[in-house]
Amino acid sequence: MKCSTIKPGAECEFMAAKGCSFPGGECGPIIDKCEGCGKILTMEEKKFCSVFPSPAGKWRKGLCNFATHAKKEAPKDESGKKVNPLKAAKRAARGG
Ligand code: SF4
Repeated sequence: MKCSTIKPGAECEFMAAKGCSFPGGECGPIIDKCEGCGKILTMEEKKFCSVFPSPAGKWRKGLCNFATHAKKEAPKDESGKKVNPLKAAKRAARGG
């Protein structure tokens, strides 16, 4: 159903005939780690995420995978060279 609160017109699974069913009745605000992201939506001086209703929850287990301003670093070996995680796993399975 289309949102009628924070993101008017956007399709949202939390929107129901009675209104927004997300806890609190609307999307949660962005957190400090979101600052600089291209997905931030500003509504009436408050900032929200255009893709997730709960930015704090999205960062709970580490880097937000939709963040446009931060990228996960590629794994590196002891010498600082980038390591292909698939090849590293195969090498480990072979025992060296
Ligand atoms: S995409 Fe992630 S980092 Fe960007 S505003 Fe949304 S929750 Fe924050």
